Amino acid sequence: MKLFTLGPVEIYPETISVYQKGFPHFRTSEYGNLVKSILSRMAALVGTEFKDNIIYLTASGTAAMEASLENCFDEKDNLLVINGGCFGHRFCELCEHHGIPHDSVNLRWNEELTAEHLVPYSGKGYTALLVNLHETFTGQLYDIKLLRAFCRDNNMLLVVDAIGTFLADDYNMDENGIDLTIFSSQKGLSCSPGLSFVVFSERMLQRVNSRPTAVSRYFDFKDYLFSIPRGQTPYTPALRIMYEIEAILDLIDASGGKDAWLLRIQKKAEYFRSCVKKWGYTIPSYSLSNMLTPIYFDDVSAYDLCVYLKEHYQLYINPCGGDLAEKMFRIAHIGNTNMADIDDLLEKLNYSLQALRK
Ligand SMILES: *Cc1c(COP(=O)(O)O)cnc(C)c1O
Repeated sequence: MKLFTLGPVEIYPETISVYQKGFPHFRTSEYGNLVKSILSRMAALVGTEFKDNIIYLTASGTAAMEASLENCFDEKDNLLVINGGCFGHRFCELCEHHGIPHDSVNLRWNEELTAEHLVPYSGKGYTALLVNLHETFTGQLYDIKLLRAFCRDNNMLLVVDAIGTFLADDYNMDENGIDLTIFSSQKGLSCSPGLSFVVFSERMLQRVNSRPTAVSRYFDFKDYLFSIPRGQTPYTPALRIMYEIEAILDLIDASGGKDAWLLRIQKKAEYFRSCVKKWGYTIPSYSLSNMLTPIYFDDVSAYDLCVYLKEHYQLYINPCGGDLAEKMFRIAHIGNTNMADIDDLLEKLNYSLQALRK
């Protein structure tokens, strides 16, 4: 069995071996110190010098998206959402649910986000831009410089769901003027699902601290911010995943650091893409994250291909949801896979295609 899925991904043995050691209770200085050390290593990976501006939640990424919205904005704000797929759409739904006024820049299938898309929204007094920097539904990686410039010119906060790009592509929070970053444990970090992280700029932190109590009791960021200097959380965390994360951070360090880690993922993506192009499969033309490669089919069902690969070869890849289910699937380049695994996948993909085309 091999997972080429977007998260949870094919895991590294280093993260499983932590379970052989046993764990301290979380209300101890041992655990608190571990958390503090992990969060400051995370700050470096995210590219911020404000290593105390990170909290973590025991929840999947969507909860971190929702909690960020309700802790930072309300009905007096007006937000702009880049909606280029199901995760952009999720931001819109969350705004809707919480009664936060918003507009969205809606992209069609295979449409690349450009400066022209943003022109109609300039000078309209929006509070913030919300973006899933890598829209994992389509694989499109948006241009952070473009979004940054737009936010700066319009005096807007920049909120980035980096779940699909953190530890797959280079990411630099301070350099790109990002005010809030969200990522979670099961994507680039390649650990178990269950923990999500929220990183604040100084001005976003002030905003959170100066706002009334959040709608949700469990997700009131002020409580998390109060406890985190001791490495603690208000409620019981999924502490074992923290030990998995420690193991991954050690592995990243041992294998040459962040740049070397990213380069390996990039190499896998490039190799995979060059092979699929050789065989004449279609890859979308917009700019892609190294996290995954989408492939488009018009003569066989992409969904049936995913099922075929799973049932005949125990290879797991991600179909697309919604309108694209039959047309496109996605193959991840994060996680514990190597070039030989890619060769094997491509070979099996060829067999599956031959079988389904018959
Ligand atoms: C995976 C992902 C999420 C979070 O999904 P959960 O299932 O809640 O963990 C959010 N945004 C993007 C871009 C993602 O790739």
